[in-house]
Amino acid sequence: MTINLISDTVTKPTKGMLDAMMTAEVGDDVFNADPTVNLLQEKMAEMFHMEAALFFPSGTMANQAAIKLHTQPGDRMFCDKWAHVYNYEGGGAAFNAGVTSCLIDGNRGMFTADQLKGFVSGRNDIHTPYSRLVCVENTTNKGGGACWDFEELKKIQKVAKDNNLAYHLDGARLFNALVAKGETPKQYGELFDTISICLSKGLGAPVGSVLIGTKEHMEQALRVRKLFGGGMRQAGFLAAAGIYALDNQVTRLAEDHKKAKEIGEVLASCSYVKKVEPIETNIVIFYVEDNMNPDDFMHKLEEKGILLISMGEGKIRIVTHLEYTNEMHDQLLQELKRF
Ligand SMILES: *Cc1c(COP(=O)(O)O)cnc(C)c1O
Repeated sequence: MTINLISDTVTKPTKGMLDAMMTAEVGDDVFNADPTVNLLQEKMAEMFHMEAALFFPSGTMANQAAIKLHTQPGDRMFCDKWAHVYNYEGGGAAFNAGVTSCLIDGNRGMFTADQLKGFVSGRNDIHTPYSRLVCVENTTNKGGGACWDFEELKKIQKVAKDNNLAYHLDGARLFNALVAKGETPKQYGELFDTISICLSKGLGAPVGSVLIGTKEHMEQALRVRKLFGGGMRQAGFLAAAGIYALDNQVTRLAEDHKKAKEIGEVLASCSYVKKVEPIETNIVIFYVEDNMNPDDFMHKLEEKGILLISMGEGKIRIVTHLEYTNEMHDQLLQELKRF
């Protein structure tokens, strides 16, 4: 038995999801003729109390489209130094939109409104790039699944508004934050100009992300998606998986969070573990003691069929997900205790 905990993207569609996909009514979505894609988009827009939504092949493309539609080449966007939009999208902000990233030195992937304020002042100086966009990420990926304080997000919105900045949320794992903190999609819809959501992470769909925002922004995003080569034809088979995930695989995220916390507790009690980062959702980041090589540690676990991933700088990451069963959980905890 392989216990694959490298990411929550490794899951395959459940039986119920496959049935929903196989029976989906589809059409050519490039001609806006796929009823299931339209249904997913309407469902998402309604859920977040926003005007419109657009289905994308990946979270990266949804984020990149958002950056493109909010900016002009030469503009500047603000994000945390650990942000996915800066670190893990192949330099897309610069390549696709010609945008300079101004990195904020936050904590676990999260910065404060005051930190942002420090950067946006002096906006009329012709030497500095035009400040146009602020991106936040909830939950934070490199920050170990940390959830933002909603009050801080509101304060950042105020700074954004006062300075004419668009406000984008990379909500790849937003549903993990909603479940963990008892928040609602509507709260987020009221705060942001655009939100991207991954259906293919903890929600368990095989492919797909959704960008949500105003009708006008989504009309622009449709053009950008076409330009990026992201127009899909009978995409309703994939949208059906997303709808199924939203209907059936959201509340169960609490189970992933519970298991992640239990893994963290066991790790904290192991003598070979130096530090475990705080665990709020389904991501566990920890460090082994200096006398142990993290790669050796991971390699030895791999020999037992347990797959973890390195995040660099000595960080080892575990991500729980819907294929990680109670039986696997018991086995992992045993192996960690006796390592
Ligand atoms: C996974 C992820 C994305 C998008 O990734 P894709 O693999 O392109 O779907 C964006 N932001 C964050 C924080 C992520 O974790």
